[in-house]
Amino acid sequence: MQKPVYLDNAATTQIDIRVVEVMSNLMSKEYGNPSSIHGFGRSMKVKIEEVRSLIANRLNVQPAEIFFTSGGTEAINTIFNGAVHSLNVKRIITTKIEHPAVLASAEYHSKTNDTQLDFVNIDDYGTVDLEHLKELLTGSSLKTLVSLMHANNELGTLLSLEKVSEVCHANNALLFSDTVQTMGKYPNDLSNQLLDFALSSAHKYHGPKGIGFMFVNGNLKIEPFIVGGGQERNMRAGTENVIGIVGMGKAFELAYEEMEENRTYMLGLKSYLVDKLKKELPHIVYNGGHDGLHSILNIGVPYNKHNEMILMNMDIAGIAVSGGSACSSGALHLSHVIEALGKAKKISPIRVSFSKYTIQSELDIFVEVLKKKLSFVLV
Ligand code: PLP
Repeated sequence: MQKPVYLDNAATTQIDIRVVEVMSNLMSKEYGNPSSIHGFGRSMKVKIEEVRSLIANRLNVQPAEIFFTSGGTEAINTIFNGAVHSLNVKRIITTKIEHPAVLASAEYHSKTNDTQLDFVNIDDYGTVDLEHLKELLTGSSLKTLVSLMHANNELGTLLSLEKVSEVCHANNALLFSDTVQTMGKYPNDLSNQLLDFALSSAHKYHGPKGIGFMFVNGNLKIEPFIVGGGQERNMRAGTENVIGIVGMGKAFELAYEEMEENRTYMLGLKSYLVDKLKKELPHIVYNGGHDGLHSILNIGVPYNKHNEMILMNMDIAGIAVSGGSACSSGALHLSHVIEALGKAKKISPIRVSFSKYTIQSELDIFVEVLKKKLSFVLV
């Protein structure tokens, strides 16, 4: 039996052993509450502030603009809640291919707070139509939050933050980009008021799960989503996950130090896989943009009864890939992204996502197994 092959790194990544070492070292030695005024607490507080400064430096922003959260989903909820309740946002513009946390937040505020919800057009690869965004924004007097992800987590399709920022700020709209898939993989520079809000989740770049941060432009003041003890300068109550924060700091540092090397490596894997698939399985289609994120490749196989079970069959053969974003119920469901592209029931999507730990021979195994499991019967 072959070793299991993990090709689902957009869902989560294996923690880096150097991160584990830093975390277990701290966990076994210190336990103070960062809010305590004595030395045990102050030592932990210092560690939190060191990570905040490290992240802020890399992103070219102020430490005061970084707030720690339990991850991406909490940051997204906080940003939407704050935009609507503190910044008087009356309209949200997004796409139908955002992460479920964004879509659910946008829908929640449109139902509960009467916030107008509009969707900007995308093309066949999930690229945002900036002309349509301009049209939607021009002449609108409603205070608007534009929420567009930097890299789509299913397709890998990238958005130009510079271009979208220009459009939004020329029209006085606030801009939030879900940067979960690019933080730690892409040299994001948030200086010069590029964005109003951004975020990160450590488990996407070999850090621990359940920890992340959000960036809130220092010119904006939003209310907290979780209230209580006033931690994070009143922006996120609850005793800080210091071990997680320190682990994220190490993962972030490593991701930046090794970014170019990892990017080149993953680009090599991606083009190796595309070449091999084109040769060995020419009927496959490619769902993401051509110059998408180096860590994600989304392919489509013919939709039929047999291929509906392809992910399960791949799993039985020891290959972990996905059809879209990870679903908490573990159930197989149609991807809302593929549906929004108008490809549902035409193709079955398979997302292959790489990390620095992926090796070429695993891609060979993936293609071999896929060839055996696929059916090319068309419906
Ligand atoms: N946004 C995107 C694009 C994601 O890929 C994810 C994770 O799957 C999230 C948000 C949610 O992040 P978290 O798992 O930290 O809640």
